[in-house]
Amino acid sequence: YTLCLNRVQMIKSLNAYITLTNKISQVQLEESAQRYMKGIPRPMEGIPIAVKDNFCTKNTKTTCASKMLENFIPTYNATVVQRLLDSGAILMGKTNMDEFGMGSGTTESIFGPTRNIWGSHLIQEVNSNSEEAFSTPPDDFYISGGSSGGSAVAVASGSCTVALGSDTGGSVRNPASYCGVVGFKPSYGSLSRYGLIPLVNSMDVPGILARTVGDCRSTFDIIKGWDPKDSTTLQRPLNKSKLKKTSSKLSKLCVGIPKEFYCPELSSEVSEAWRDVADLLENCGFRVVQVSLPHTSYSIACYSVLNPCEVASNMARYDGLRYGYRATGKNLNSTESLYAATRSQALNQIVRGRILAGNYFLLKENYDKYFVQALKLRRLIYEDYVKLWSTGVDLLLTPVTLSDAPLFSEFNQKDSRAQSADQDYCTQPANMAGIPALSLPVRLSKRNLPLSIQLMAPHFDDETLLDVAELLE
Ligand code: GLN
Repeated sequence: YTLCLNRVQMIKSLNAYITLTNKISQVQLEESAQRYMKGIPRPMEGIPIAVKDNFCTKNTKTTCASKMLENFIPTYNATVVQRLLDSGAILMGKTNMDEFGMGSGTTESIFGPTRNIWGSHLIQEVNSNSEEAFSTPPDDFYISGGSSGGSAVAVASGSCTVALGSDTGGSVRNPASYCGVVGFKPSYGSLSRYGLIPLVNSMDVPGILARTVGDCRSTFDIIKGWDPKDSTTLQRPLNKSKLKKTSSKLSKLCVGIPKEFYCPELSSEVSEAWRDVADLLENCGFRVVQVSLPHTSYSIACYSVLNPCEVASNMARYDGLRYGYRATGKNLNSTESLYAATRSQALNQIVRGRILAGNYFLLKENYDKYFVQALKLRRLIYEDYVKLWSTGVDLLLTPVTLSDAPLFSEFNQKDSRAQSADQDYCTQPANMAGIPALSLPVRLSKRNLPLSIQLMAPHFDDETLLDVAELLE
């Protein structure tokens, strides 16, 4: 704990944390010590964790990195947070993110961007084994990825052992990939969303970021399972792993390489890493085959309709009356003007743009043309996967991101829609289909930045996914 606390101090300039919870943690730490002395430690006794700032934490600010919730203090814990605390974990703090989870760089936070630890001078202090001098051009930095960038940097820097993020279109896997940690988005329905401030209810999944697959698994084991407070959680156990390891032989699982993920923007380094991991799997005895998921390229367009529609409905609660920021100023003499002023003062342009777009798509005359069409398309994307599993494919191997972490200056040249189109291309289909997916670091790029690959598995085959990832690690 003390080591992690030192790291928290060392990495302040990276802006990974929004709120630090040292005081609360100190009390818990004493309890943990007592339990150790009595010989009754719980599974995560004394393990330092960090939590993205869109999970409700009792008596601790939960801001969603927005002015709207800048002073919001929940009265309860999200189920996944509660389960971690009940098992003895110690909360180090709440981590930075894109406002309300809308973004892929952790560059859109009212608290300022989170910087990637890779390329920062801190990497040498934190990772004393590193021989290379990593550095970024002056006044620039590599982005951490997002929207759970704070959690990824918190783990990568060693300021906590595991962190929670949320993944709606790739927000756990993308920053995990850029920061060189493992990022696991479990099956939709395996983890409770109760207390996770929603972005897109039908796609949001709490995710886990850790340095090893084993740490992801232990954390997952503690937080997974049915929650009466979230009706979409699964009431039965997850499927057993299909990977059987008998003495020196592995069961012959079939790994698909979907050809649609070879997109023109894919960097040669990522594509090489992808091919090498496929070869590695083949050498381990897996059957590796090329497959097709024909509707993959429609995923971004489909998401850009469904996301704003759910956002428009979810954000209606921020009206300046019930909770959150309330506008001040003159001419607030009608409810409508209060709503309008509150939202324009307290939400960034991306959030407001999505609310506007969503309400447009949901207008009576547009509903069938946009919303219903997008739902149909989502079904086709989902069916691509179902059909594939029925042909005997057990897992998929794809890139996570199209390149290593971009510089802030490169990333910021594009508008938010172009950023999402690039950043989420490989990650988002898993959210459309609700399937488990994991980002695994494999090597360093020429710029000495982490490169990762993605594994995906059928719905509720999370155990198989974790087993194969562990094998590759
Ligand atoms: N980049 C996507 C968006 O902006 C996904 C974000 C996420 O997964 N929370 O909506």
